[in-house]
Amino acid sequence: MATELAHCTQLTPSGRLRHLLTLTDMSRDLIEELLERAESYLRPPGEPPARDPVLRGRTVANLFFEPSTRTRASFELAAKRLGADVLNLDVNMSSRKKGESVLDTIYTLQAMQVDVFVVRDASAGIPELIAASVEPHVSVLNAGEAAVSHPTQGLLDLMTMHQHKGRFDRLSVVIVGDIARSRVARSAVEGLQIMGTRDIRLVAPPGMTPDEKLYPGTTITSDLDGALPGADVVMALRIQRERMTEKAQMMTTHEYHAKYGLTAERLMRATPDAIVMHPGPMNRDVEIAGDVADGPQSVIVQQVTNGLAMRMAILAMVMEARRDR
Ligand code: ASP
Repeated sequence: MATELAHCTQLTPSGRLRHLLTLTDMSRDLIEELLERAESYLRPPGEPPARDPVLRGRTVANLFFEPSTRTRASFELAAKRLGADVLNLDVNMSSRKKGESVLDTIYTLQAMQVDVFVVRDASAGIPELIAASVEPHVSVLNAGEAAVSHPTQGLLDLMTMHQHKGRFDRLSVVIVGDIARSRVARSAVEGLQIMGTRDIRLVAPPGMTPDEKLYPGTTITSDLDGALPGADVVMALRIQRERMTEKAQMMTTHEYHAKYGLTAERLMRATPDAIVMHPGPMNRDVEIAGDVADGPQSVIVQQVTNGLAMRMAILAMVMEARRDR
């Protein structure tokens, strides 16, 4: 199995995107191409959404074995706006609940001519396992893998930062919250480092400190007030209670907000034009104050808009890469 997985690369021999499993082996050029393509799918509010028939006649299956609102809805709309048929498998009604292995579910749907699988799962390694097992013309997109990675989120976060800040190399980025259990932080940091960002400060409350080996080249601290000065981007993360196995000695949400919540007063420590990000779902007045989430520096709604455009770009690019396989 290990050898098989090692052979499963997400890129075609000529470097095109066949699957999207992780950001780790992506080049800056490929990310720039995705950012550009996603930008081309944006439309001003009130105008009809962009459509591009590159997936006409194709089938996209959304397999979310963990809850999702934004990622699932945006993949569905993205696939439809590209002309695909979309299958949303209701996992609570699926045979995986009856003990069917994930690969048997995949082979069953592959037999119905699914071209792209969009997969979210609570276990690490599932997207890669599926990618190593599907037929050569089929693509697999990771829509959230345990606490390991969330590459489409990482790309939409890069897109949003790029829109507001332009270059990545001189950016100072603060990410605050449950870093240890966050796949969003992992992919954001991987993407930023590929794009040349050097100043990444991870603020982890006690019990949420990540393994530093997973975050080379970053600063890890528990001091939010000390980390904020000079920050151009401040990203707040939700406490990932669903991944807490031990009975964590968690402070109350009130204490958490007092010490680690992104409040208007704290935000004043960052640069005056710092942007505020959050991947959602938000717990208002826990990791982020409601007025900051709705305030002038917040780009949280724009992240959602960008997420749809980015998922269109990814779907279009894997379909175009078929020519190379
Ligand atoms: N929606 C993001 C994720 O799936 C963030 C979160 O759930 O807190 O990882």
